[in-house]
Amino acid sequence: MKRILGWFAGLMAFALLAMLLAYGAGFLKIEYGNADRRPVGNAWDVQSLGMRDDVNVLFVLTDTLRAHRLSAYGYERETSPTWEYMASSGLRFGRHLSQSSWTKCSMASMWTGVYPQRTGVLKSSHGLSEDAITPAEIFFDAGFRTAGIWRNGWVSPNFGFGQGFEVYERPPGKAIPRSVRIENPHIKLEGTDSDAVNAAVEFLRVHGNERWFLYVHLMDVHQYLYDEKNALFGSDYSDIYDNSVRHTDEVLGMLLTHLVDEDLLQNTLVVLASDHGEAFGERGIEGHAREVYRETTEVPFVIGFPFRLESGVTIETRSRNVDIWPTVLDLLDLPAMPETDGRSLVPEIMAAITGRKQGEEVPTPAFAHLDRHWGKAQPEEDAPSIAVALGSYRYILREGATGKPNDPAELLFDAASDPEELLNVIEEEPERAQALRELARGYLDRPPASWGEDAPSVELDEAEAEQLRALGYAVP
Ligand SMILES: [Zn+2]
Repeated sequence: MKRILGWFAGLMAFALLAMLLAYGAGFLKIEYGNADRRPVGNAWDVQSLGMRDDVNVLFVLTDTLRAHRLSAYGYERETSPTWEYMASSGLRFGRHLSQSSWTKCSMASMWTGVYPQRTGVLKSSHGLSEDAITPAEIFFDAGFRTAGIWRNGWVSPNFGFGQGFEVYERPPGKAIPRSVRIENPHIKLEGTDSDAVNAAVEFLRVHGNERWFLYVHLMDVHQYLYDEKNALFGSDYSDIYDNSVRHTDEVLGMLLTHLVDEDLLQNTLVVLASDHGEAFGERGIEGHAREVYRETTEVPFVIGFPFRLESGVTIETRSRNVDIWPTVLDLLDLPAMPETDGRSLVPEIMAAITGRKQGEEVPTPAFAHLDRHWGKAQPEEDAPSIAVALGSYRYILREGATGKPNDPAELLFDAASDPEELLNVIEEEPERAQALRELARGYLDRPPASWGEDAPSVELDEAEAEQLRALGYAVP
């Protein structure tokens, strides 16, 4: 443990140094002081978290973060030392599924715990209903100060994502150092994630001593943004993604360092997650928001407690982004969100921490959903791609596909024998395919949430329309 702490101190010192070099002294008004001072905790401390009234919640969402590209998830490159540190002293969810491969659809499900089919947030113009109950509203009602800092226009307040936040802001972009490269400027954004960290630090400066819920949505990975001076992993497109993951991990490290320096980490539940992954031509597709295969839907999820676990715990059973807030609210003994498809993972967490057997008698299927026509001018018929993950299998239904080899209507993969999921075994396993097909059809037949019936239609502003055009969508 000492070694890890020493190493973490080193990491933080390194992060501070890199920050000073990259941005000049005075960028963040912090100095590296002491290493992680969280006490060691155990199962009892987890169980009794809800009895404490001094626990804050920091939620850092790293956009476009594919689980397979994190060293915290076994990737051979050292892309994520901060995630690794938090996982090694907390919880890592080893098989975690996002509910879409496109930000807005995915975040609407994450914030409500409700699957995309039931949120009604499936197309570029759809917004989240004001009648939906979000965790920010629950935190606010429980007396937390609430703030959201975001840089992705798909979660802007006009799409309904500001509910429950007292402050919900896009941070002003500062000048970017010359050595910073942005290889994927599909979405043109001002500034960098360091601006988001600055804004978060400012919020904590004012409200850090109250009880708070802070959401920080990082975008540098989406943009393939990295600092050439600190690049470790080569220069092709996929290498640059890894460089950006590493860069963003260091930005996260700066924010956590700030919590350490302000004596806040031992009063903070840290929640780290992502909205979707990224593809690198595995099956002829690059980027995200096109399909729901493993590359774009297997995402990381880590929880750090206000104390350290002696050694990190991995949850091996399947989990989903719709489970995140039911779990966190349950841990803190706050009111549950209504109508969720997700559920609290506290039973799995307690089983894993106490070394009891993990795993359900009957595994719960997990769904991901993308309307392939999400950005097309309406009215346009729906073209849902639905993924059903169950056990080692992943079944994909692509409604509206022609069924030709380059446009398959159905696929089935078994990760037990084919970890990359490139071998379609739909013909070889007709019975399993039938069972999963029924689950996918049943998913599509589910009624909307009480507030999901008529998701508000939001007119895109010119900047948003421009982003869509840049992605190749026909926007009127
Ligand atoms: Zn995204």
